Amino acid sequence: MTSTGPARQASLRERNLAMTARAVIDAAAPLSRADVAARTGMTRATVSTLVDQLIEAGLLTELPAVSSGPGRPAVPLAPAARTVVGVGLEVNVDYLGGRVVDLTGAVVDEIVFAENLRGSSATITLGRLGGLAHDLIARVESQGMRVVGAHLALPGLVDTRAELLRIAPNLEWSDVTPLPLLCLPDHLPATVGNEAKLAALAQLWGCRVADRAARTFLYVSGDVGIGGAIIIDGELFGGRRGWSGELGHVTIDPAGPACRCGASGCLERYAGKEVLVSGLGLDIDVADDVLIDRLSASDDAARTAVRTAGAALGQAMAGAVNLLDIDCVLLGGVYTGLVPLLRPGIAEQLRTRVLGAPWAPVDVAPAPVADHAALTGGAATSLRTVVEDPMPWIAAATG
Ligand SMILES: [Zn+2]
Repeated sequence: MTSTGPARQASLRERNLAMTARAVIDAAAPLSRADVAARTGMTRATVSTLVDQLIEAGLLTELPAVSSGPGRPAVPLAPAARTVVGVGLEVNVDYLGGRVVDLTGAVVDEIVFAENLRGSSATITLGRLGGLAHDLIARVESQGMRVVGAHLALPGLVDTRAELLRIAPNLEWSDVTPLPLLCLPDHLPATVGNEAKLAALAQLWGCRVADRAARTFLYVSGDVGIGGAIIIDGELFGGRRGWSGELGHVTIDPAGPACRCGASGCLERYAGKEVLVSGLGLDIDVADDVLIDRLSASDDAARTAVRTAGAALGQAMAGAVNLLDIDCVLLGGVYTGLVPLLRPGIAEQLRTRVLGAPWAPVDVAPAPVADHAALTGGAATSLRTVVEDPMPWIAAATG
């Protein structure tokens, strides 16, 4: 929220409510009202009033009081469970699904269908996903939860301003306006974004606070395509249109094999799932755990695949780290289970190619939220609108 003139009373209250909600929901451990006052610079009386309103609206809750010496015991505050929820939706190459997440980061419901959607009709697939969303929404609303909105994740270049999918090479979709095809309820706010970026945001908001990732990292997810996202100080760096992070199409060797994007020698052609499975004589639909088992074997084919993928990933990541000065890389998708195998090859490239590596070694770690992370990230993105502006929810709750 920005304000150019003297803050109006209402906007000041809106801002203070958001600050209070954020302080509690983003805290590493439950805070008391006094803690919130200390962190936000507001008086205890003001914080108490705002907290009461957030509790009444079902956004925060009070935990059992804890005594820490003389005086009144402190009442820890936490985000409320199963009250206000967000819906994440996703179409990817090998599944479609929806997930409902609450303010605590818990998954309260989900429906996921594994199937090969390459070359599927966008109209039919998104129509089916919309039906699935209706079912999920009906299920959680029947339990008294209020749905904030839905956010759709797609594996391609999504113009977030125009809500338009330009291209999803691995689905073979182009120039799709996806949201109307979902036919969601009219009153439900819906938005669309890129799956890797949403999966990266899931690492910030979509899990218990104690499990959350560092606030500055490069996220790299391996699937048929390779997605990437840049998170700096807890904010997604999306670029002008939301198209940043396309690490999968960084050139590893200009003379390399043709890529589905039209270029040649892209990272995807060395470390994408399609290349990994074909090198091992497996089918593209193979389950991730089978692929991981196969790559863990000690035969030449597995070792070559791991070495090639690790070196190419490290080479592409080194370019990103040199540009952005990031010291943490989180691996998602199928890479999450491959971290022990891929890390040596990646680390070698980072060590030799990152100028600052001797003084700031780059940590390569599995992403904390690994299972269909973009679904969680989409739901969390919807929920974030409440955290950033709780006022309309308070008005609705207090009627
Ligand atoms: Zn490419």
